[in-house]
Amino acid sequence: MNNEIDWSKLPFGYLRTDYNVRCEYRDGKWGEIQVSSDENINLHMAATALHYGQEIFEGLKAFRGKDNKIRIFRLKDNARRMRESAEGLLMEPVPEDLFCEMCKKVVKLNERFVPPYGSGASLYIRPLEIGLTARVGVKPAEEFLFLILVTPVGPYFKTGFGCTNICIMRDYDRVAPKGTGRWKVGGNYAASLQAGEHAHELGYSAVLYLDPKEKKYLDECGPANFFAIKNGKYITPASDSILPSVTNKSLMQLARDMGIEVEQRHITVDELDDCTEAAACGTAAVASPVGEIHDLDTGKKYILAPDGKPGPVTTALYNRLNAIRLGEEEDIHGWNTIVE
Ligand SMILES: *Cc1c(COP(=O)(O)O)cnc(C)c1O
Repeated sequence: MNNEIDWSKLPFGYLRTDYNVRCEYRDGKWGEIQVSSDENINLHMAATALHYGQEIFEGLKAFRGKDNKIRIFRLKDNARRMRESAEGLLMEPVPEDLFCEMCKKVVKLNERFVPPYGSGASLYIRPLEIGLTARVGVKPAEEFLFLILVTPVGPYFKTGFGCTNICIMRDYDRVAPKGTGRWKVGGNYAASLQAGEHAHELGYSAVLYLDPKEKKYLDECGPANFFAIKNGKYITPASDSILPSVTNKSLMQLARDMGIEVEQRHITVDELDDCTEAAACGTAAVASPVGEIHDLDTGKKYILAPDGKPGPVTTALYNRLNAIRLGEEEDIHGWNTIVE
């Protein structure tokens, strides 16, 4: 274990660990897995990643459980999504077995950075793939680097599980209607920075985007998926521009397990009037409950949490998912991979 780190005060930031793992695709095949302690990568200045944005990534977490075992949550789902992102950007897909093997390896190598059970902290795993080939013309790379770094991150809710307010702004789109929104692409984040910073300046935690084509339906909530509770049902937007969140998929399953009906469909803005709970969801927070949604263009305010507290369904789902990740509750869906 690592005695120098105050786990409860860790931010969601980068902290150096001992090792990262890498694998390169050259001459039509993936090479050997390399273990490195170097925090830098040596890149050709004309690499496609730098000029034409051939960059994709993933984000998942490892936890130390009640039984002291280390669990990676939904490893295979992230492996599959990374493959789909690669296909979307004409990059060489990382074989799912290689992805899983390398994630387990990098966690094991950095075992002393996996925060203790009960700290609320976890080891964040960040796989990324970039195009290496030097190109000036617009064309996909032929060589790729797949790299995984890990860093311990603190609890998302520093002052306890609580609500924040979000806003609707029609002046920004995160992605295009038939664009790259469904893949985990760095460029999507670059394209969302302006809107996010604008919302933060106005005191909101995130922008609730509307669908980029018609501006009629709810889309993503900042860099997270969105769900709401309406007439006791779990509703979440369906759209081609939404990244399929593994957390959202897990919460939908847990909702069904709890006897809650789930609808993944177009949701119009005015349906928010009839919602009794709402939250953003993703690996970082699991669920980040929404207090109020302010539509800055119409002046309308949707109050989701009149008492300012997270609602009962969101709270139950949040607790259930956390309990599974920490080995406190039986993993009936086989979501955890134990790192031996
Ligand atoms: C990563 C991401 C999410 C959340 O996905 P999880 O698999 O739940 O972490 C949601 N939206 C966007 C745009 C993302 O990049």
